[in-house]
Amino acid sequence: MNLLAADPPPTRSRDGWCLDHSYTRLPAALHRACSPAPADAPGLVLFNSALAKDLGLDPSLGEHPSAAALFTGNPLPEGARPIAQAYAGHQFGNFTVLGDGRALLLGEQISPDGSRHDVQFKGSGPTPFSRNGDGRAALGPMLREYLISEAMHALGIPTTRSLAVATTGIPVFRSEMLRGAVLTRIAASHIRVGTFEWVAACERPETLNALVQYTLKRHFPAHSEAANPAAALLDAALESQASLLARWMQVGFVHGVMNTDNMALSGETIDYGPCAFMDRHNAGTVFSSIDRQGRYAYGRQPLVAQWNLARFAETLLPLLDPNPDTAVEFATEKVHGFARRYHAHWLDGYRLKLGFASPDPEDATLIQGVLDWMQNTGADHTHTFAALSRAEAQQCPPWQDPVFVEWHGRWKNRLASEAPERVSARMRAQNPVVIPRNHAVEAALQAAEAGDLGPCHRLLEGWNAPYDHSRSRPPELMNPPPAGTPPHRTFCGT
Ligand code: AMP
Ligand code: MG
Repeated sequence: MNLLAADPPPTRSRDGWCLDHSYTRLPAALHRACSPAPADAPGLVLFNSALAKDLGLDPSLGEHPSAAALFTGNPLPEGARPIAQAYAGHQFGNFTVLGDGRALLLGEQISPDGSRHDVQFKGSGPTPFSRNGDGRAALGPMLREYLISEAMHALGIPTTRSLAVATTGIPVFRSEMLRGAVLTRIAASHIRVGTFEWVAACERPETLNALVQYTLKRHFPAHSEAANPAAALLDAALESQASLLARWMQVGFVHGVMNTDNMALSGETIDYGPCAFMDRHNAGTVFSSIDRQGRYAYGRQPLVAQWNLARFAETLLPLLDPNPDTAVEFATEKVHGFARRYHAHWLDGYRLKLGFASPDPEDATLIQGVLDWMQNTGADHTHTFAALSRAEAQQCPPWQDPVFVEWHGRWKNRLASEAPERVSARMRAQNPVVIPRNHAVEAALQAAEAGDLGPCHRLLEGWNAPYDHSRSRPPELMNPPPAGTPPHRTFCGT
């Protein structure tokens, strides 16, 4: 049975909604029907009309008088049939049964090009999976997810997207009283490593099999006819995460809460809770106030991804081979192979960042050289690569530190056979000149909390085209925080 083919197919509403519900055609253990809680006084805060257009929605939907009500879920978009998704997960290493405790999947929007996108509300009230929480979200963290996910998209890194943020008019109580808000999130899907962990814990082989087939069809259709679908899915997940992690590392992104429930099988970055971008290059960088042991530090992220993928592989064991020992042996070898896959993406990415057109056996040493220099001197990750991308930097070292000058000599020799302008053009296309700077993000969120959305709009505008080095941008978007600024701390969005 092809779960992705709706019968009859959904039709497009006047506003452009065209929602299918393939996930609800999966076994009932995976979802529960649930409606959003009413909002007292809905107010639209941000709307992404470019994304709306790509999804086939009316790009002026955000200007409709009903937009605020729509993006808090009263009434629902045409054709929506909200469900909360079941999942489990390892949080900071400990297995927990979770599920959408404050999110609802409205359906899957079919774009004019035929692609399928989950439309999810986050912060829309309690669900059957809410344990002690209120199911709500505060405005600040929802705006933060909107800003950072759209910045990641502009950087060309696979990510969930943000369609809208709307306030509910209902206060939420955290350590203080905050304004409640709903984020409308768009994702290739919300299938997580934790979704597989939930099914494995239920010990339902038919459900596991259905989820494997569904995930392969939805995200890796080229492999959907594979002789061993579970092995094909494991391979595809290892590869897409290796590629994603290399992209994060190359822009200095620290996810902050890489629990297995926050790792999407689609290969998109998901769940922007305490994430932040590193300014000074340091493998030990931790922003999250709850990550006391540094489990999710910048430099540990590839290892954590491998650990999460080991948990994923465990869920697939019954399908990998009828002989349990053979299955474990097979999965172990595959998961060990993650290190090699990640290294290949790391090498490819840094070769491009440093301007090398073709591989050389000494590249890894040369790349590590500049990373070590940044680590030892606390150089700004983004500025270092942006500065090296200027054509004149190939002739004259941008810093006179003797260690850097020695490294620069080796780098310059490596590039000597090509015109500096050509190398520079290639490097600029790989090295962003602007990333979300923590102090700028926090200032914009504070202004938004006080009712001024100007700074949020200026950030979103300034983060566009981050590889265009010639565009002029306000200095506060570009610069690291002033010297002496205390280390940035982030707090979970809950
Ligand atoms: P998140 O921080 O959104 O990744 O959430 C982790 C888990 O905690 C998920 O199962 C959420 O549904 C649950 N959770 C987080 N915040 C709340 C809340 N305010 N009410 C209910 N459940 C929550
Ligand atoms: Mg989560």
